[in-house]
Amino acid sequence: MTKRRGPNTKKRPEELSIMDQCLRALKANGLSITQPRKRIIQVLIDSKEPLTNEAIHRRLGRGVCDLATVYRCMSSFEEVRIVHRGFFDDGTSFYELDMGRSHEDYIICKRCRHTEPIGFCIASDMERLVANRGYKDVSHTLTFFAKECLDPDNCPHNKAAAKASKAK
Ligand SMILES: [Zn+2]
Ligand SMILES: [Zn+2]
Repeated sequence: MTKRRGPNTKKRPEELSIMDQCLRALKANGLSITQPRKRIIQVLIDSKEPLTNEAIHRRLGRGVCDLATVYRCMSSFEEVRIVHRGFFDDGTSFYELDMGRSHEDYIICKRCRHTEPIGFCIASDMERLVANRGYKDVSHTLTFFAKECLDPDNCPHNKAAAKASKAK
């Protein structure tokens, strides 16, 4: 028997909210919709920048789930392509929402890890070339590393650090 739910089930993917698209991807891949998973997706939707597991865990606030759960959620989210994973120059992973958002390539400040989206993907043609060879589910991560921010004094991360050291 097929369960009938609200009018949402009739919506085409492009009409669904990003949250609904993500939840649908979880279900389609046999992953259950848990409170921590929903909260993590919301953190990613609300964030304007890519986040590490630790940063996601901090933004969840207390009592939602432990850090190990965040790690596990993020690797399953990556598998079902809800998120896209990138790396800082020391190999630390960061994640950004892939579903419902256009993919970005980034310039990353090595000093403070400030990530600046380039504004468009410069490797989409290369990705298509690889896919045309017959490879399935091709994705890429392209990050450029810079010694410091364009305007180090105005880097939001540096500003926050300066404020914190003043407060001490
Ligand atoms: Zn790209
Ligand atoms: Zn910086």
